[in-house]
Amino acid sequence: MPELPEVDALVDFLRPRLIGDFVTRADIAELSLLKTVDPSIDALAGLEITEVARRGKALIIGFDGLDLVCRFARMGWLTWHDTAPSGPIRMGRGPLGMRVRLASGAAVDLIEPGSKKNAAVALVRDLSEVPALASLGPGALSLTVDELAAVLSESTSRIKTVLEDQRIISGLGNAYTDEILHAARLSPFATAKTVDPQALHTAIHEVLDAARTALIGLPPAGIKTAKKRGFSVHGRTGETCPVCGETIAEVSFADKSLQYCPRCQTGGKKLSDRRMDRLLR
Ligand SMILES: [Zn+2]
Repeated sequence: MPELPEVDALVDFLRPRLIGDFVTRADIAELSLLKTVDPSIDALAGLEITEVARRGKALIIGFDGLDLVCRFARMGWLTWHDTAPSGPIRMGRGPLGMRVRLASGAAVDLIEPGSKKNAAVALVRDLSEVPALASLGPGALSLTVDELAAVLSESTSRIKTVLEDQRIISGLGNAYTDEILHAARLSPFATAKTVDPQALHTAIHEVLDAARTALIGLPPAGIKTAKKRGFSVHGRTGETCPVCGETIAEVSFADKSLQYCPRCQTGGKKLSDRRMDRLLR
């Protein structure tokens, strides 16, 4: 799932290409993608793009009086075409979810490979109409140490759960929380209120700043590949920790897994596998 650094890099790529251009038409190829009915997606035709921005993990393409909100879910992303592909859109076949054609001749596709269609697009007059945006907490890079301390001191949840909760801190997902907890040498299962806010704040900035630096300037197709290269532990089960040389371990859940270094993060202790726990109980 694209998180704060990837969407920031996408915004950086799109801003100079989209702002000032006009939509000639927008086509929905996957009906489940579009979550709103009024205004119609056809209302975009003829409108000038005035803004491209990120909110949490969502991409916002702004027009005068309307916003197109794109949420990518786990597999969704954008494809950029300098020249729009010719021919009609085929409904409900393949990864294409939406194509926006521009007056310059370029086009942007929202794609979602795979059979699960969880990406979401909303066309709204006000961003508060999108519940997931209305409930967003402060951004991971704008949260101060004091604000983070206040959030942590109230919580008996696991730190990994708190960092992924968009209502508390927005912009992070499974990948960058694994990386931040590794950088902070914290167990993903540590109780939030026992965590040192200053150390966690430093790790959040270190990890996200490094990722943004690596990704900004790349085209959309390059952002996803480059993202994986930058990870120390996430998605690297069985590989070697770049800090201490220990073998990276994982905890599997029903639909995802987290990775951590037992030596750096849990005092050498292996966290039990949640999926196996459930099967053995
Ligand atoms: Zn390590």
